[in-house]
Amino acid sequence: MDLSMLNDKQREGVETINGPVLILAGAGSGKTRVLTHRVAYLIEQGVMPYNIMAITFTNKAAREMRERIDNIVGFGSDGVWVATFHASCVRILRRFCENLGQGYTSNFTIYDTDDCKTLMKEVCKYLQIDTKQFKERTFLNVISDAKNKLITPEEFTNRAMGDFNMSRQATVYREYQARLRQNNAFDFDDLIMKTVELLRLDGDVRAYYNDKFKYIMVDEYQDTNAAQFELVRLLIGGQQNLCVVGDDDQSIYKFRGADIYNILNFEQHFPSAHVIKLEQNYRSTGNILNAANAVIANNEGRKEKALWTEAEDGDKIQFQQFDSAYEEASYIASNIGSVVRRGEADYRDCAVLYRTNAQSRLIEEKMIYEGIPYKIVGGVNFYSRKEIKDVLAYLKTVDNGNDDIAVQRIINIPKRGIGATTITKVSDYAREHGLNFYEALLHANDIPSIGKAASKIKGFTDLIEKLKRIAVEESVSALVEEILDQTDYVAELKAEGTDEAKARIENIDELLTKAVAYEKDAGDDGEEPSLSGFLEDVALVADIDSYEESDNYVVLMTLHGAKGLEFPYVYMAGMEDGLFPGQAAIFDGGGADSELEEERRLAYVGITRAKQHLTMTSARMRMIRGETQFHKISRFVKEIPDELVKGNLWEPKPMDDYSSTPIGEYSVYQRPTGKGPTIATSYGSRNESVRNTYSSNVYTVGSSTTAVANKNGTKIEKTTLDYGIGDRVSHIKFKEGTVKDIIDEGRDYEVTVDFDGVGIKKMFASFAKLKKV
Ligand code: ATP
Ligand code: MG
Repeated sequence: MDLSMLNDKQREGVETINGPVLILAGAGSGKTRVLTHRVAYLIEQGVMPYNIMAITFTNKAAREMRERIDNIVGFGSDGVWVATFHASCVRILRRFCENLGQGYTSNFTIYDTDDCKTLMKEVCKYLQIDTKQFKERTFLNVISDAKNKLITPEEFTNRAMGDFNMSRQATVYREYQARLRQNNAFDFDDLIMKTVELLRLDGDVRAYYNDKFKYIMVDEYQDTNAAQFELVRLLIGGQQNLCVVGDDDQSIYKFRGADIYNILNFEQHFPSAHVIKLEQNYRSTGNILNAANAVIANNEGRKEKALWTEAEDGDKIQFQQFDSAYEEASYIASNIGSVVRRGEADYRDCAVLYRTNAQSRLIEEKMIYEGIPYKIVGGVNFYSRKEIKDVLAYLKTVDNGNDDIAVQRIINIPKRGIGATTITKVSDYAREHGLNFYEALLHANDIPSIGKAASKIKGFTDLIEKLKRIAVEESVSALVEEILDQTDYVAELKAEGTDEAKARIENIDELLTKAVAYEKDAGDDGEEPSLSGFLEDVALVADIDSYEESDNYVVLMTLHGAKGLEFPYVYMAGMEDGLFPGQAAIFDGGGADSELEEERRLAYVGITRAKQHLTMTSARMRMIRGETQFHKISRFVKEIPDELVKGNLWEPKPMDDYSSTPIGEYSVYQRPTGKGPTIATSYGSRNESVRNTYSSNVYTVGSSTTAVANKNGTKIEKTTLDYGIGDRVSHIKFKEGTVKDIIDEGRDYEVTVDFDGVGIKKMFASFAKLKKV
């Protein structure tokens, strides 16, 4: 194999194949590259692909690694076990979960966040817990945290001794876990914890995997939690041919229990470890790298690393502060538009990164306005849509009757007139007789005082039994078609006739496409396609999976989602104290383990995604959870040395000081054709940008305007709306919709419109230019 594409240290990482190896290195230094080359090298050295395991953090990374291996070796990558932690555990549990002796069978269900919430609601109801006082969310977090630390319900109970609050949590945890088990279901954290339990419990299974996985590699090791660490330790067994790569400066999943000490103390866990440090960055220009280095240097709890590059300094980091998140979003969209128009980049070269998903909405609107193709990675997941969850619940019921949540979801879809009282009676009967909900339904006739409902229930169970028979004989896609047919699901949507119904039908079609694709893929991989297999596939699609590099669009995603990726142009939006770092992190103070340092690592991750151009933006004012907040420039921006930055890096003025506002400068925003002068052109000098950013607070769009005065008596103008809640309005891009809500924002109105076939959009009246129809 040609190792000339690697530097000496990287080559050392590739060639040191025996014993524990830790590659501790900064961003963009080629860690992932070393791992892929290492797998290829192992195969060349005669190691059977079957004996190699590589764990990545996302499904996307897994796929990419497979491709890279194929490119290098040209064969054999199929046999290598390349998967995320969760997918690996699913595979192990599908095969051996019966050995746990807890009643799990291989057709188990995986609960997503929504399912867990539903289950928790039931648990709280059953335990008569006042969820106004004790939030379901909090219980779920406590349980997740316990599972990430491998604390079982029993152990949790022991630890709770005497502590009233913890005892309540322990009771909830026990009940929640018991119900998961009854439903033959695992939540995401269970996947890891139960696999660990299995490997600890069953020496034969452990021996089988120790023998199978002769070489294990873990990427993004800094983000493993205690359970994942234990899993790796059990899998590798005594041979310890374990190579982990990571960057302590990029540990950003503490809230999911990631334990940065897994990497910092690797040498203590594995005393014979060979440690390799990579210090040359191949990704970014000098200025970007220096900015990243300067920011992360403010963290106390880190191993000192000196990252350098041979690349030239390149452009300075562009920083712009705006008055509102609207202007910020406009700027980003128009900036991308002009970069692409000038032929400097393709859309796919650009990524917009933000701290919270909620920020995507405005940016999305501006992208539409500018006609820029974009894709939001994360956010509302295809699989969280109602119609998809309905069909999947049918499939889950057919596949695994133990899944009470799924059964209860569809018992009245379509409407069968089975009321809440009946459902409670069935649930009670199920619990008294140790049955699951579906089994209780099958015994409906024996349930006291159930009356006429029994025949309605029979209609439902007959359908499910029929579908079960079909499932045995037919393909998954045929089964889906049968479900749609038998329930009149699509027929009803068609009858509804609205654009929203049409969109739902399209989503269902998409699910069918997915089923067909699954059957084909499974066939290609020599696996027998099955309903369980399909549901597993669906359950493990992380949001990031919807990101296909080959398509030409701008990606919008959270900073967390961007880990491991790289783009020529990166925009970091919402660089504000109060948002990034968030309020909680600011009040958390400093110190090595603080939230503030975790946020700073996230900033470091963001900056180091950029190859050539990095733009950071912030807004003085933005709405967060319906509340207008005023923010200063993020301290992370200020931590970058001045000489590396261009743009308007001055202290913000108080928001209500508009005394210098020149009325009328606002015209840069009036682009009736959708194109026109870009906002960027108005940022010539510092002074000019001050004027422009302030002036753009004045919204004067629309024919009828009224003047209102702000605190200082400065006149600003506000649109008078000629439509009200319930009226039909039209919009240049989204076409027609119904006004759902209007909130007086002082200087403007925030209007919520449900656009036909597009859905709910919130917009400022002055920008939206809605016309009453
Ligand atoms: P991160 O910390 O963000 O996960 P990383 O350390 O995994 O980054 P890679 O993604 O492996 O870094 O590499 C970063 C970039 O540098 C990639 O584009 C890669 O192809 C390139 N690169 C790595 N090593 C070399 C090398 N020796 N010569 C040329 N380019 C390299
Ligand atoms: Mg990497």
